[in-house]
Amino acid sequence: MPSTAATDWLASVEAALQRRDPGEPEFHQAVQEVLESLAPVVAARPELREHRVVERLVEPERQVIFRVPWQDDQGGVRINRGFRVEFNSALGPYKGGLRFHPSVNLGIVKFLGFEQIFKNALTGLGIGGGKGGSDFDPRGRSDAEVMRFCQSFMTELHRHLGEHTDVPAGDIGVGGRELGYLFGQYRRITNRWEAGVLTGKGTGWGGSRVRTEATGYGNVLFTAEMLKVRGTDLEGRRVTVSGSGNVALYTVAKAQQLGAHVVTVSDSGGYVIDEKGIDLALLQQIKEVERGRVSDYAERRGTSARYVTEGSVWEVPTDVALPSATQNELTETDAIALVRNGVTAVSEGANMPTTPEALRVLREAGVAFGPAKAANAGGVATSALEMRQNAARDSWTADRVEDELAGVMRSIHDTAYETAERYGRPGDYATGANIAAFERVADAVLAQGLI
Ligand code: NDP
Repeated sequence: MPSTAATDWLASVEAALQRRDPGEPEFHQAVQEVLESLAPVVAARPELREHRVVERLVEPERQVIFRVPWQDDQGGVRINRGFRVEFNSALGPYKGGLRFHPSVNLGIVKFLGFEQIFKNALTGLGIGGGKGGSDFDPRGRSDAEVMRFCQSFMTELHRHLGEHTDVPAGDIGVGGRELGYLFGQYRRITNRWEAGVLTGKGTGWGGSRVRTEATGYGNVLFTAEMLKVRGTDLEGRRVTVSGSGNVALYTVAKAQQLGAHVVTVSDSGGYVIDEKGIDLALLQQIKEVERGRVSDYAERRGTSARYVTEGSVWEVPTDVALPSATQNELTETDAIALVRNGVTAVSEGANMPTTPEALRVLREAGVAFGPAKAANAGGVATSALEMRQNAARDSWTADRVEDELAGVMRSIHDTAYETAERYGRPGDYATGANIAAFERVADAVLAQGLI
């Protein structure tokens, strides 16, 4: 098939999806971003069209939506909505995190689940794609309220899970505390010690060392690989990071270990710029122990730090930008500011933080760009290592997990880089990652018949 016919056909698949799934803009955006890379593969492999592989990949295998009733500390009745989208299991059990945030709806969960299929394929570790969550907001809730919510959520979700079926983990709003309550309720209902049913567990009860750190660490390792190709590294580089949650904290940590000078973190209230460099110990105390805000950091840090509530963290001049908060947080205006200030690399710790318009600006300026499904795959890769340890009833040292993580990130980088070269798009990691991941999933889908 000529490439233009393939492009037209992919556009028709996308148009049909937009008609069929209206009101899901983030899902449409994620699908469009993958489909626009695939024309050369579809053109070269007519069986993909004949067997409708693309149409099968954009339709989840199963979608579960459920009511989550719980009681607040005043005895009031609260109702939230729970989701689990089991998107594709051609390569292994559904795998992907749970997000608790008021913005969660079906379209958000589908965008995340769709991305997860390809991200997980890139790890090469035998995991399918899924995602879930709720519009519950854990912020400002007591531990007892969070526990009651998690117990109610798992009371429904448990019937869909299993170490060989569907294995959730954390995401925005779901960290160690929430995973503990979720695992406890699963264990209680099923009467099974099934460690491999959730990842991101505490290291004392089946969790893997370095899982907490893995997404942030992995993104920095991926960035270092991109810089190496360009004959440089992170030593002495100025780095800006957005967010101040799990991914952001360990992005700061690894970037500092590699000699970078990290000057920002943020949350939904604003950002902090600290010209002396972020004091990680202070930030961790405020975020992980006190569950505070970045404004508290600025207050306690002294004169080097400033808290800014207007504008965007991406206006701060930097060599390397690592968005680590949420989707569509880096806009076209932000990308123009970054390029004007001489940014050389942008790598996505968060899922889909860069808008399509911003990506075009970065591409045209020749900025090295690490797409989320490659750059932030270290988290789910380490989750797969956690499943491996659970299956063997084993517990690896931190050094061993970090070595494996570094190997996976190098391999993902090389796969995306080489695939982009092969398809005539040198240096275009987004296209390389999309094509390489799609081919792995598509081959498995084709081999397993029409199911
Ligand atoms: P956390 O809940 O630990 O932290 C999220 C951070 O992002 C917080 O600082 C939060 O600020 C900020 N944030 C969230 N929503 C918004 C918003 N709408 N506007 C501005 N800031 C916002 O989540 P994670 O660190 O785990 O996740 C961050 C990103 O990384 C997400 O895109 C997630 O999907 C992705 N990711 C996470 C993985 C993991 O292993 N945890 C794996 C792969 C990807 P505030 O407190 O004010 O809301």
